[in-house]
Amino acid sequence: MVAQLKAQGIIKAHNVEEAMLKVRREDFVWPGQQDLAYDDNPLPLGDTGQTLSAPHMIAIMLEELELSAGQHVLEVGTGSGYNAALIASIVGSGGVVSIERLEVLVNFAKGNLEKTGYSKFVLVIHGDGTLGYPPESPKETYDRIIVTACAPSIPKTLFQQLKKGGIMLIPVGSSYIQDLVKLKKNNKGEVEKSVLGSVAFVPLVGKYAYNPS
Ligand code: SAM
Repeated sequence: MVAQLKAQGIIKAHNVEEAMLKVRREDFVWPGQQDLAYDDNPLPLGDTGQTLSAPHMIAIMLEELELSAGQHVLEVGTGSGYNAALIASIVGSGGVVSIERLEVLVNFAKGNLEKTGYSKFVLVIHGDGTLGYPPESPKETYDRIIVTACAPSIPKTLFQQLKKGGIMLIPVGSSYIQDLVKLKKNNKGEVEKSVLGSVAFVPLVGKYAYNPS
């Protein structure tokens, strides 16, 4: 899988390659799906209606986050914990805070992170990630923020919690198709925005995104 993503020019950075070689996707898929772990497809997380994103999508986002050791990262949408483990294997003691709204996935991710040894670097929070963490804090806390579900617009609280010089990735658009948006907060605290391409993520459900149905 990693060799294929590299040959396709998707994995470029050495630290992304290393992380994807080190963290075994088979340890994060839903029970019974181990045989599918290294196909480049999204995989359902039980009957939650949520998915573990496709490896190429994860690799694209890891590359665009421009990660390095020591960064403090917020992930919204823990799912299986796979992406959080990949980030943790790059940033190490900088630490990852990952928020998930569904309790069943909070427990699934915590178990996966525990058994693979990444729980010491990842704090999994059960809650509404559109509020950031601590919830609604105005403090610039994170070097990087990654949202792995799609929002109708950029939640202001999340951008507020990004440090100056930080990068945030978020899919923005309708619940069917979105733009993958990369935001940089410059040293004056202003936003620099670029659109990386079209993507299809599950909806971000919360106070500053889609309403629960
Ligand atoms: N990053 C995950 C992984 O590595 O398995 C995949 C994430 S999945 C594509 C998106 C996740 O976002 C789902 O688990 C969903 O429950 C979660 N989610 C949706 N809205 C949320 C919110 N407001 N706060 C936290 N998590 C949310």
